[in-house]
Amino acid sequence: VSEPYVDLTLPIWEGTPFHPNHFAAEISQYASIDRNGFEARRLVLSSHLGTHIDAPRHYIPDAGSVDDFALDTLIGTYQVVQIGERGPGAKIGADDLPSEIATRVFIATGWSESHLGDPDYFTAPPVLELAAARRLNESGTRIVGIDGPTVDLDDTVHNALLGAGCLIVENLTNLTKLGSAAHAMVLPLPVRGGDGCPVRAIAQPIR
Ligand SMILES: [Zn+2]
Repeated sequence: VSEPYVDLTLPIWEGTPFHPNHFAAEISQYASIDRNGFEARRLVLSSHLGTHIDAPRHYIPDAGSVDDFALDTLIGTYQVVQIGERGPGAKIGADDLPSEIATRVFIATGWSESHLGDPDYFTAPPVLELAAARRLNESGTRIVGIDGPTVDLDDTVHNALLGAGCLIVENLTNLTKLGSAAHAMVLPLPVRGGDGCPVRAIAQPIR
């Protein structure tokens, strides 16, 4: 019996919370059925809006872009590491990761479920310590997702993971509902040369 799919994606609208380094979604209607016979909207979205992927070139000059990665990197079995709620500013260390680390990893903290829209969502999220990033790199992990706005507050983990060619997914949600493993897909639009892109991420828990 297959489990129902879980949506790991934040909705996209003008009110999607955004990091102060980036900007709010701009969504405006430019055609209506009354005037044009069809309805359509202009979407102006940061490549790091909402649930999104960081490609290596987000931090590493001329490194891989969102359209450079095989679908088999983005789609498949994800190990889900359930960290649990540890409050604002929690640090996720190397010892919080399991002894065997998979190729695709989600880090579940519950932060987006409990703090999205709060003043400290972007300023005090749980983050990875550099030692945890190094363990992921040593394990050959190719993609790491977290249910908070970022994997670090000082760029060290971004540089370590992206420098090793490991993709990062941020602002995921509902990871706490997945148990310890899921079949998942994290799909950016194939933006040519893109440093990042909003994604649709969905997962089917493996029980
Ligand atoms: Zn990003």
